[in-house]
Amino acid sequence: MFGINTLRSNSTYSPRGFYGYKNIDEPVKGLNSNSPPFEAEMKAMNVIVLVKQVPDIEKVKFNHKTGRLDRSSAGAVTNPFDLNALEAAVQIKEKAGATVTTISMGPPQAESTLKDTLARGADRAILLTDKKFAGADTLATSYALASAIKKLGCFDLIICGEKTVDGDTAQVGAEVAEHLGVPHISYVEEVREVTKDKIVVKSRIGRSYYLTEMKFPGLITVTKDINIPRLPTLKNKLKTRKAKIEIWNADNLADIAHVKKLGISGSPTWVVKVYTPPAGRRKGVIIKGEPKEIAKKIVTVLRDVGVLK
Ligand code: FAD
Repeated sequence: MFGINTLRSNSTYSPRGFYGYKNIDEPVKGLNSNSPPFEAEMKAMNVIVLVKQVPDIEKVKFNHKTGRLDRSSAGAVTNPFDLNALEAAVQIKEKAGATVTTISMGPPQAESTLKDTLARGADRAILLTDKKFAGADTLATSYALASAIKKLGCFDLIICGEKTVDGDTAQVGAEVAEHLGVPHISYVEEVREVTKDKIVVKSRIGRSYYLTEMKFPGLITVTKDINIPRLPTLKNKLKTRKAKIEIWNADNLADIAHVKKLGISGSPTWVVKVYTPPAGRRKGVIIKGEPKEIAKKIVTVLRDVGVLK
């Protein structure tokens, strides 16, 4: 039987959303009572969905010599988990009222993915595309995405897919939340309740379910079990074919982001080799104690196995 744990994740911010900060490195502060100059805008929630265009994984070939995907060998599709994220946002819009904005960072071709999000119910779509974003690891990717969200100036909830089918790190959602200084909940498979200032979700980690209440602003990542993404209607497809996608480059983020933290210059990851590891048996260890004690023990375990030096 699975356990159900109930958690409460309190954001330190006003439930009214998150408003424009000049620089992403500024300490994030809660709103004071004089802050919201956007009262009218806040009647509906602002939900942001992060969407990545990925190669069609059924067709793409892997170049074993370079250790890279040969992206030219297959067409591009929307990351399937991000369709679940979008569907969750559109359902919130239908039930509670919300403006849904989709953001993608990628090459100009990613415009087609964003048009598809409009056909599936998003209201606004933004593409971050620039050579200065190229070569980004997950840290620089999440920094660029978080900077764009700050530029938008106001959000209640960000929804990401659990992971992508190409990079598959499942790091970007949590990192975006960290850059913005807001709480996040991963592996959400059910939205139980949404009001204008909070969300209650069920997430599954290992053998347990967690029922968590999170005040806005915050971020969730969703699994494929959360819903079945709707297909765009032909009418919506035709309507959005000529829709304008907003294109932002690094200069558009200049007042928010440090250019050195974008793209390759902002990427501390160094890929030494990509290979298929031999299959081995997984070993589980349960660490018990107070959070500080557990953290120390985890560091020791990671040192012992050579992950940390
Ligand atoms: P995950 O963390 O698994 O994704 C989780 C969720 O985050 C997604 O479901 C989605 O909601 C959101 N998300 C993730 N990525 C995006 C995005 N781009 N836009 C919007 N939402 C997103 N990739 C390139 O395409 N070009 C490069 O030049 C490049 N150079 C790299 C250099 C290095 C050294 C490394 C390590 C990686 C490089 N990558 C590059 C890969 C790139 O870092 C990852 O694709 C990117 O950070 C997303 O990671 P992920 O696919 O594991 O996403």
